[in-house]
Amino acid sequence: MFERLLQWIYPDLCIGCGKLGHLVCAACLARAPRYSDPLPDVGAQHVYVCFVYTAVIRQALLLLKYCGKRRYARVLATTLVDTVPRAYAGVVALPAAESRIAHRGYDQAVLLAQSVADDLQLPYCPGLVRTRDTTAQAHLSRQQRAHNVAAAFGWRGPSLSGRVLLIDDICTTGATVREAILAIKAAGMLEVDVAVVARGKTNPSRSNEREG
Ligand SMILES: [Zn+2]
Repeated sequence: MFERLLQWIYPDLCIGCGKLGHLVCAACLARAPRYSDPLPDVGAQHVYVCFVYTAVIRQALLLLKYCGKRRYARVLATTLVDTVPRAYAGVVALPAAESRIAHRGYDQAVLLAQSVADDLQLPYCPGLVRTRDTTAQAHLSRQQRAHNVAAAFGWRGPSLSGRVLLIDDICTTGATVREAILAIKAAGMLEVDVAVVARGKTNPSRSNEREG
């Protein structure tokens, strides 16, 4: 009831074209530039990156990450679901740093992974955890970033038996994803695919809206 009232007072408008009743409408999603540049080697069997980090996709990710607009996770998750095959033992999120989760009150990668798991009717598995808080990466060089995230992840609880789908919102250098995959593999899950919503097209290491 409250939801309905809110929708009546503040209806959803597409952030791309203003269409009523959508956060991002299908036409704007279809127009968003798909990512086609080479992918970083992160140790996964398959890496899927849906979009270039620009236009409506960038805007939606910023709203999801920094403005508390959790409902964008569902829209963005549908683009991941459309991109990956469906045969996985489970879906795992690349968790944000604890300090950021505490600040935001939620983890955008977890919201995305849970939505993907729901849509694919697969189990969501919270096994991947940060073992230490890595500092903000924007000012670090590529090499410093790799060092910064080394052994930053671990696995808690039972392993999944079969191929794992790891979900994250943005990939820049791929250093964080690489470390996460090392932790998943160390826990005995050797088949890992990664699906990411977006990656910058040029000079991703300079991106201010970074991984995590
Ligand atoms: Zn639109």
